[in-house]
Amino acid sequence: MGEFELIRRYFVRPVTAGDGVVLGIGDDCALLQPDPGMQLAVSTDMLVEGRHFLSTVNPRWLGHKALAVNLSDLAAMGAQPLGFTLALALPGTDEAWLAGFAQGLLELADAHHCPLVGGDTTRGPLNVSITVLGQVPPGQGLLRSGAQVGDDIYVSGCLGEARLALEALRGGVDLEAAALRRCRARLEQPQPRLALGVTLRGLASAAADTSDGLVSDLGHVMTASGVGAVLQWAALAGGGAVGADVRLQELDLTRTCVLAGGDDYELVFTAPTERREQVIAAADRVGVAVTRIGGVCERAPGEPPVQVLDASGHLLDGHWGGYDHFG
Ligand code: ADP
Ligand code: MG
Repeated sequence: MGEFELIRRYFVRPVTAGDGVVLGIGDDCALLQPDPGMQLAVSTDMLVEGRHFLSTVNPRWLGHKALAVNLSDLAAMGAQPLGFTLALALPGTDEAWLAGFAQGLLELADAHHCPLVGGDTTRGPLNVSITVLGQVPPGQGLLRSGAQVGDDIYVSGCLGEARLALEALRGGVDLEAAALRRCRARLEQPQPRLALGVTLRGLASAAADTSDGLVSDLGHVMTASGVGAVLQWAALAGGGAVGADVRLQELDLTRTCVLAGGDDYELVFTAPTERREQVIAAADRVGVAVTRIGGVCERAPGEPPVQVLDASGHLLDGHWGGYDHFG
């Protein structure tokens, strides 16, 4: 099987008219037609074997996750997907692997109406790089830089399960079979919060997705906005923002999973206090739970961008910074 046969067999799908794709795979470029007046939202994420996943990973979940982490960036911008490109380096043409990978990738693409419109395929150490294209009305993108002093801070869904699964797979924690299945699905098949991102346009003042960990990702938002975050551990732990199986673990591990876990691909966002009811109603409309976990304050020089307080108002002590590939 040559390069072009491989692309045709595994990645080319009939293009459905009217989804914003004028021309898909097969020409020198794809041609996309955003809705009139919309801004393009563009984001790239790369997954490297040994760094982001192990060679033993189920190819179907690798395909799913490679697109999911990219769609999550569109969600965090409040953008709707238009399509994506795939740059793939493969050590060989393992047909079972390719079939599984394409299935996971294209099922998620179909679910979010985000067709594969082009890419590049070469021989090399396994590497999956995806660029997603989306659209957002001008001025309505959910930037990291818009948080204001006094805003509330929210997180969607629940945090910590992906990291807990990783701890269990590494043998550091024992989980019951059902709990492991649930947490492992969070790690391997994250669900990008696209509908929530779109519904938060005009409501949220700033947003990011939790790919590296809550404290790290929210820290980027705070730094970009020139403000600080104060989180209430009790609000996180008590309000459904922590996965049930995570909450059952010892406190230190729970805090690590929730504050520094990463890989959850939830949205963390800020909004003015007068929009509290609207935020909850909007999240409700798209069937996603959101929890208010703290507030935005002025940030004094030398203070970390995110501080976490316990129930009695004492600062929690710990290092919850995210992963830095060159750190
Ligand atoms: P070019 O020589 O112009 O770079 P290629 O021969 O690399 O084109 O690719 C041929 C067509 O197949 C192009 O339309 C390209 O976008 C598409 N393509 C190549 N690899 C992939 C892939 N992994 N997934 C989707 N489309 C791909
Ligand atoms: Mg090429």
